[in-house]
Amino acid sequence: MKVDDLRDFVLDVTGGHCAYCGRQLQRADWHVDHIIPRKHGGTSKRTNIFPSCIRCNTKKQDMTPDELRHYLRWQTYHKLHTAAESVLELCNFLDCKTSEHLAQHALDAVNIVENAPITFYFERIEA
Ligand SMILES: [Zn+2]
Repeated sequence: MKVDDLRDFVLDVTGGHCAYCGRQLQRADWHVDHIIPRKHGGTSKRTNIFPSCIRCNTKKQDMTPDELRHYLRWQTYHKLHTAAESVLELCNFLDCKTSEHLAQHALDAVNIVENAPITFYFERIEA
C-alpha cells in the first residue's frame, strides 16, 4: 500500500475527523497517531491507528488517552483556578451583586472542569 493510500485509510477510520477533538481535518494537516503509544506497547494494527490534528497530537506526545485526559483536565483546571483567583480579587472593586454573580461563575467553571467527563471523538463514535 502506498503512503497516500495508507493515510486515506487512516483518515477514513473517523470519517476525516481528529480522533481526539473531533475537528474536521484538512488533507495534509494531521498526523497518524498510535492511540496506545508504541512506548507503552501499542501496535501498528488498525485498531490502534487513528488520525489526529497536529494540535492534539503535539499535546498527546507519548501519553495514553487516559494520561491525555488527566493532562487536559488539570492543565485547564490550574489555568481556571488562577483566573478565578484574579476574578475574586477583582470582586473587591465591584458592587456586591455583580461581585457575587461573577465569583459564582468563576467557581462554577472550576468545578465543571474538575468534574465533567472528558470523552474523545474516537470514543464517542465507538459507543
Ligand atoms: Zn484534535
